[in-house]
Amino acid sequence: MTSERSDDLPRYGLYIDGRWSNAADGATIPVNESALGQPMAYAANGGIEDVDRAVLAARTAFDSGPWPHTAPHERARILHAIADLMEGQSNELAEIESRNLGVALRKSMFVDVPMAIEHFRTFAELARKHPYEPLPWTDMPSVSWNFVWREPIGVCGQILAWNYPLLFVAWKLAPALAAGNTVVLKPASYTPLTAIRLFELIHASGLLPRGVVNLVTGPGAEVGEAIARHPGVDKVSLTGSTEVGRRVMQLASETVKRVTLELGGKSPSLVLPDADLELATDGVLFGVFFNGGQSCESGTRCFVPEALHDEFVERLVARARGLRLGNPLDLETDMGPLVSEKQRAAVMQYIELGKAEGATLATGGQAARVPGFERAPFVEPTIFANVRNSSRLAQEEIFGPVLAVIPYKNLTEAIQMANDTIYGLGAAVWSRDLQAAIEVAKRIRSGTVWINDHHLILPHAPFGGYKQSGVGREHGIYGLLEYTQIKHIHVDIKQKREGRLWWDMLLPPVE
Ligand code: NAD
Repeated sequence: MTSERSDDLPRYGLYIDGRWSNAADGATIPVNESALGQPMAYAANGGIEDVDRAVLAARTAFDSGPWPHTAPHERARILHAIADLMEGQSNELAEIESRNLGVALRKSMFVDVPMAIEHFRTFAELARKHPYEPLPWTDMPSVSWNFVWREPIGVCGQILAWNYPLLFVAWKLAPALAAGNTVVLKPASYTPLTAIRLFELIHASGLLPRGVVNLVTGPGAEVGEAIARHPGVDKVSLTGSTEVGRRVMQLASETVKRVTLELGGKSPSLVLPDADLELATDGVLFGVFFNGGQSCESGTRCFVPEALHDEFVERLVARARGLRLGNPLDLETDMGPLVSEKQRAAVMQYIELGKAEGATLATGGQAARVPGFERAPFVEPTIFANVRNSSRLAQEEIFGPVLAVIPYKNLTEAIQMANDTIYGLGAAVWSRDLQAAIEVAKRIRSGTVWINDHHLILPHAPFGGYKQSGVGREHGIYGLLEYTQIKHIHVDIKQKREGRLWWDMLLPPVE
């Protein structure tokens, strides 16, 4: 595509080496307003040449620029200043997010934007930590001093999914910058607009030296692959599907890059026999339908004791039917449309599959029509009952508002089924007995377990996957350390020849 457009929608370029520019071939891609099913802007459709330029800029900024050597308190000041910029434009960022992604404004305004700001502030504070650690032991205490110095890794390629666009920019950019790295960031093609707006704010502020942050929009198969395999990139961090994670890991292996992979999920919600069913009903629905079911950690499989199954399904259905689908910009709306028609088609296929596999469709199952938004990809909140955990409906990531309720005979079976998946990202346990719930949590193979809650991904708590849900952790000190590498520094404090028996293995002792 070319940048010749007859409409007057905004056109955004690539941000490379402190400047905005077109893609090398001038191509652009339309970016849709989800609820209207039509473009709201055009973004540059970058390619391999653009990635080369961005990596060169980031490489130069890392190898010869001041950023990796900036004092920790100065990096902290800058990260707080970026948070201030976001705070100043929070309503605008929330509106862009809701228009582009389709997510309810109530959520982007009160969750996504404030949480993204909080991530920058958390990493600002972590940036102050001195990257020095004394070694807990030393083999030759009398002659040497040994310590560990944490250094930035270098150029970090960051590839983002579309489901929490601004939050993911914060998850990736804040720790990378806090540790002194430089960045080439690729937002998802559906949802690049809040990332672009944040880069505009950073550019206008002049807070960062040239080349420290670079943004390349464009298709994953081209821009994403070029970042993952580029020899000038030292680390790649992806938030995306497990399938793409496998590919990125493979490409990164060509130059033995470090990887952080935040991948797919099929998280269980375990309702224990003693659970407060009223609380668990709303909790399970929040766990699965938040963000229109488009969350990696969504509680998409709900395990319920056989004896409670029918009653619990009735409760879920009654509450789910009350959810209001509508204009994402209306603060009364509970659920907006999905991100795209393609995503809706994929979700609808799974709904048909669920029926064909013999699960009971308890509610929903239709591509909802909302007056005034006929082109928007809405899907009704959908609940299947009596699902088999071995079915594809229960095993594959759907990434839409579809819940599978699965009856269990006893707790051992429930835990075994909860763990019987290739994924291990999140889980929820619903029980009045906190001690018992903690014991269950310990037996669930996933990176996060919420007890009597869901989705709370805290800026200072580690988040990431067991099994094929990922590699590494984001957030807090755990996330910061993933953007550092360790150097052991050994200091000879005696500076004398005698007594160095290990040198005598080669050279005769000096008389
Ligand atoms: P996706 O894997 O299709 O795309 C993710 C990113 O990778 C996009 O920017 C895409 O352009 C890029 N990409 C695609 N092909 C590529 C390739 N061959 N090489 C390099 N990059 C490539 O995922 P999506 O549809 O954007 O997002 C949904 C998926 O992300 C779901 O599986 C969800 O579970 C997962 N996710 C995981 C987390 C987490 O923290 N674990 C968070 C959100 C989403």
